[in-house]
Amino acid sequence: MIEVESYLSENNFKNFKINEPLSNHTTFQVGGIARFVVTPETKKQLISLVEYLKLKNMPFKVIGNGSNLLPSDKIYEGIIIKTNQALNYLEVKDREVIVGAGYSLVKLAYDMIQYELEGLEFIGGIPGTIGGAVFMNAGAYNKEMKDVVKEILLINHKGEFLTYHKEDLQYAYRKSILQYEKPLLIIEAKLKLKKGSSEIIRNLLEKRRKRRINTQPLKFPSGGSTFRNPIGTHAYLLIDKAGLRGYQMGGAKISEKHCNFIINVEKAKSKDVKDLVEYTIEKVYQVTGVKLQPEIEFFNWD
Ligand SMILES: Cc1cc2nc3c(=O)[nH]c(=O)nc-3n(C[C@H](O)[C@H](O)[C@H](O)COP(=O)(O)OP(=O)(O)OC[C@H]3O[C@@H](n4cnc5c(N)ncnc54)[C@H](O)[C@@H]3O)c2cc1C
Repeated sequence: MIEVESYLSENNFKNFKINEPLSNHTTFQVGGIARFVVTPETKKQLISLVEYLKLKNMPFKVIGNGSNLLPSDKIYEGIIIKTNQALNYLEVKDREVIVGAGYSLVKLAYDMIQYELEGLEFIGGIPGTIGGAVFMNAGAYNKEMKDVVKEILLINHKGEFLTYHKEDLQYAYRKSILQYEKPLLIIEAKLKLKKGSSEIIRNLLEKRRKRRINTQPLKFPSGGSTFRNPIGTHAYLLIDKAGLRGYQMGGAKISEKHCNFIINVEKAKSKDVKDLVEYTIEKVYQVTGVKLQPEIEFFNWD
């Protein structure tokens, strides 16, 4: 790890933290210390860092806004790399948008008002980045990234630069091949949109923003929906049926406002959240016979 520190200093990385709590980098506000959290400033710096760490065989993980992540409470003996500065670019050409993986989804949705481009209203309330969204096939209101992605540029696990077309990504409900292939870095996405009206886009974003405030526990740290919706039903209905609305374990609680949200109410540990996830799966299975699958990603638990 001393080697990493020297590399960062010698290569003018200004923004890196040593022994940094991941609770500062996840929307759940939980997670143990990572040996390094690095936020490169340029694309070149970011790519060189990824190549260096791969060459040295050092463990690392690139993250977006940590809005779908549940890191364990233990130390991560590796390097967390953040994309929000180096990959924070947007280029709009006619109806196509090239957007860096570190770009905020909420910002992008609102940017589209000025370009009069329709199709990204569904990401207006998702607090992640493009990288996390193409990885997860993020979606809402019956729309998902699959509907807008044309291609993405990435560095695969072997260190090769590749373009993946939409068909290569094998998108399904909150699933993509990226979750199995685990690319080292998603660099950018090319999205295809439709010409629309600024006013209609703005109104839809506003309507949905209000709806989220009314239906989701946004005042508390969380990872959004904890479980995938099983075919033909909604996870929140099953959790409610199992009598778990408001159920609390340690500092983690099933939100009364929206039962598919686990919220951090009292300085929760990651373990509290994980225990509650496991308890919910068990209880819902006993009561309804349905086995819920987590939508949030567990990281550094083994
Ligand atoms: C309040 C709230 C509401 C939410 N609402 C929704 C919703 O409506 N719909 C929905 O689908 N999700 C929702 N989410 C979940 C989450 O915001 C999405 O899954 C989002 O796409 C995750 O993006 P992120 O940048 O935070 O990814 P992260 O959590 O940082 O990372 C997720 C995964 O993607 C990988 N990854 C991210 N960027 C890169 C990159 N550049 N290169 C390689 N790998 C990368 C990470 O390694 C990790 O494995 C919500 C979350 C919250 C907290």
